Amino acid sequence: MQYPTAPPDCIPTELTVKPRRIRRLSLISLMLALIVGCGYIGYTVSEYFGIQALSENGQRQLELNARSVESEISKYTYLPSLLELEFNVERLLSTPTTYRRHLVNEYLEGLNQRSGSLAIYILNPQGRVLATSNWRDATSYLGEDLSFRAYFKDALEGRAARFYGIGSTAGEPGYYLAHALKKNDKVIGVAVVKVRLEGLEQRWEKARLQAYVSDENGIIILSSNQARWLKAVRPLPAETRERLARSLQYHWWALEELQPLSRKHLADGTELVSFAEDSKSQGKSANITYLSQRRPLVDTAWHITLLSPVNDVQRAAFSHGLLASVACALLIFLGLALNQRRRMIATRLAAREALIQANNELERKIAERTADLQASNLRLQAEVRERQQAETTLRQTQDDLIQAGKLAVIGQMSTAIAHELNQPLAALRTLSGNTIRFLQRGVLDVASSNLQTIGELVDRMGKITGSLRAFARRADDHGQADLEQAIDAALKLLQGHPAFDGLTLEKDCQYSRENMLLGIEQTRLEQILINLIANALDAMTEQNQRQLCLTGREQDSRYLLTVQDNGIGIPVDIRAHLFEPFFTTKPGEKGLGLGLTLSASLAAAAGGNLSVQHPESGGTAFLLNLPIITGHKDEPHD
Ligand code: ADP
Repeated sequence: MQYPTAPPDCIPTELTVKPRRIRRLSLISLMLALIVGCGYIGYTVSEYFGIQALSENGQRQLELNARSVESEISKYTYLPSLLELEFNVERLLSTPTTYRRHLVNEYLEGLNQRSGSLAIYILNPQGRVLATSNWRDATSYLGEDLSFRAYFKDALEGRAARFYGIGSTAGEPGYYLAHALKKNDKVIGVAVVKVRLEGLEQRWEKARLQAYVSDENGIIILSSNQARWLKAVRPLPAETRERLARSLQYHWWALEELQPLSRKHLADGTELVSFAEDSKSQGKSANITYLSQRRPLVDTAWHITLLSPVNDVQRAAFSHGLLASVACALLIFLGLALNQRRRMIATRLAAREALIQANNELERKIAERTADLQASNLRLQAEVRERQQAETTLRQTQDDLIQAGKLAVIGQMSTAIAHELNQPLAALRTLSGNTIRFLQRGVLDVASSNLQTIGELVDRMGKITGSLRAFARRADDHGQADLEQAIDAALKLLQGHPAFDGLTLEKDCQYSRENMLLGIEQTRLEQILINLIANALDAMTEQNQRQLCLTGREQDSRYLLTVQDNGIGIPVDIRAHLFEPFFTTKPGEKGLGLGLTLSASLAAAAGGNLSVQHPESGGTAFLLNLPIITGHKDEPHD
């Protein structure tokens, strides 16, 4: 069964009752009910069987005592009838004389002594006592009129006259047995024997028996407990009471009713009755319950009743009920303990099962992960192999490319060398031709000057090839250069350019200090300037007014040289390609497309840069930015 772990949102928390608590309370109530129920059943069963046993025992006791009472009262039944046989009695009844009375009195006295009865006396048919065994006593019945006695009337009418009553003379209780004395079937008198039955009561008391005998009127005439004596066991109708009062059978006794506090019918003649009795031990009134067993006595209308106290049985039943409750509680406790143990074992088994499952799951996951890892590993190994193969291929390709690159570089270099050396060679051709002519003319000083210039050109060419080598190596430039010297050298070299004639040169280079040097090799600076000025001259070739401006300024500890022409300018669509190698717009062998690339490369190697601007006024301006050497010019540069 599953219970919700949290109350629904719609129910306030305080109104929700935890099902666990309800279950626990129900369980506790059930256990208590079970314990009480067991106790009750134990009590009831024990009481039932206890009463059964008590009843059986009581039945035996009742039987014994009934026999005892019967024998006690039956042993005198013959006695009155015996007097019929006595001659003197007959004579007295027929003709009473003093002498005859005396004879009968003595006879009755002797008979009374021998039989152990209380009194024996003779009545005439009118009910007057003619002779009696107690004729000597002061309380003698002699001459008394006892015609009102019921036993006398019964005897006269021929009925069995047995009667318990209280004597009207001395108020002494006794059992009266009367017998009609007949002669020739005519009643001549009545013989009466009065018997004492107190002996029975004394025996009962000795045996601690609670018993009583009730007579035909339901009046208790013998009782082990004197408190019950002459009490009526059933309600007496008013006429009966009146009759009894008239007959003085019980003298003047009130004949109260013996009323039990409670009465429970069990079987015929058997019931449970409770009386409030004075307890001798506790000194106060206590409720005592008896098992009452009743039985009629033979030859009489009397009943004997035996009262067996059931308090002991009830006490035993209470103990048994208590024991049953305790046993039930123990069983419940044992059951709970066993249940707890079973639950603990179940929990442990469940935990163990969960652990095994978790372990299995873990192992499964590990196996899965291991398989994944192995697959990944295999994939990685395959990838590594592929990469290694690709790397090998790449290396091969790279080697091929390097080889191809080397060949390309060789081609570029040779082209560049040719480009750079072209103009000095052209100058050399012109100068050497001039020198030959000056030598033929004998103008030696000019020839000498030309030869010196040729030498200088050869040196420059050497330096150019060196520079190109350096460019090829892309080594950093840590040289120093004199700008003015470089400008002069470049202009000198370009004098033979077709556009040089009619050129307006504006040079405005400002220096913050004298002999300021730039951080670049002299030859490289000259190469850059030759390229920039040559391009400017090329662009201005078609112009009528050619104007070249060289402007130099120190700016932020660096030197900025602007080479601006008023040439044709650079079309917008090709501006992005200016610094790309071999980009040229010049036709045929005129352009190689390496000048700007080389110049930018040389400037960058010196820590500077080369950029281009396109003035709105027209033409083009190249901006060369170079570092300034802070030291002094220590040696001349050529
Ligand atoms: P080349 O001079 O061999 O063509 P460069 O790299 O020096 O190679 O120049 C590339 C191109 O840039 C030239 O072909 C030219 O079209 C353009 N150019 C360079 N300088 C100028 C300039 N001052 N005015 C106009 N165009 C120029």
